[in-house]
Amino acid sequence: MVVIGSHVSYKNESGLAGCVKEIIKYGGNAFMFYTGAPQNTKRGPIDDMRTIEALELMEKNQIALEHVVCHAPYIVNLGNDSDKDKYDFSVRFIREEMDRCETLGVRYLVLHPGNALKQERAFALQNIAKGLNKILREDDEMVILLETMAGKGTELGITIDEIVTILEGINLKEKVGVCLDTCHLHDSGIDVQKFDDYLKEFDEKIGLHKIGCVHVNDSKNVLGSHKDRHENIGFGLIGFDALLHVIYHEKLACVPKILETPYVDRLYAPYKQEIKMILDKKFNEHLIEDIIKEGSL
Ligand code: FE
Ligand code: FE
Ligand code: ZN
Repeated sequence: MVVIGSHVSYKNESGLAGCVKEIIKYGGNAFMFYTGAPQNTKRGPIDDMRTIEALELMEKNQIALEHVVCHAPYIVNLGNDSDKDKYDFSVRFIREEMDRCETLGVRYLVLHPGNALKQERAFALQNIAKGLNKILREDDEMVILLETMAGKGTELGITIDEIVTILEGINLKEKVGVCLDTCHLHDSGIDVQKFDDYLKEFDEKIGLHKIGCVHVNDSKNVLGSHKDRHENIGFGLIGFDALLHVIYHEKLACVPKILETPYVDRLYAPYKQEIKMILDKKFNEHLIEDIIKEGSL
């Protein structure tokens, strides 16, 4: 089966086991979670019993640990170092997040590269590499995946060349990879209809082996809008066929494809129906109605 899943919620009470149960409900074989609210850095202790339960459930349901991804909160920022306390906090928090991942056995941590704010972009890209050099340790078994961004505000890491610049500044290069996000690519100005051209350039400049995760989202906005507003699969301006091409791309076969599409009416998770549609390889024009119907049962 294609490696497909969605982002799921992590709660301190149910730990990693709660995440696994949620993705099983959706019919996925990969998942992504935040160890707490994505908007803040409050984090609870990890319950090892829940992790053991999760690993057993994963084995029974053929979910490989390599297809589990953690996402760091959005509010840490390695891109701007003008406030040393804030910058050091981000460094410390990401380090602690890696330690939490290692406790859970998770190998990938997705990180938004950062925001330049009022600093020069070229300088800000160096701040990211500098921060990662403080965070990464020789004995780390996990990999940080820098996510490609839409270019909203002063976001960094919006072109292949910017990612290259960050990677060049990193000492332990094998510990850093990339997470593509189709909505962000589209909003940054890359035409997902011509995804193979993008992959070719990526391969020449970075290498496809560096891609550790793909976020599959449609986009509410036009190409190059720099907005970053996700849409349900097939209901946005990227479209079902282009997204299906990414999901089933032979060069990304082993990479987890993770849906981060919006809840319908802010209430109903769309992932079960979206995964079904993807596995059927057939667009369901009644997807939204089906999600509401199923969700309100
Ligand atoms: Fe993200
Ligand atoms: Fe994303
Ligand atoms: Zn996004």
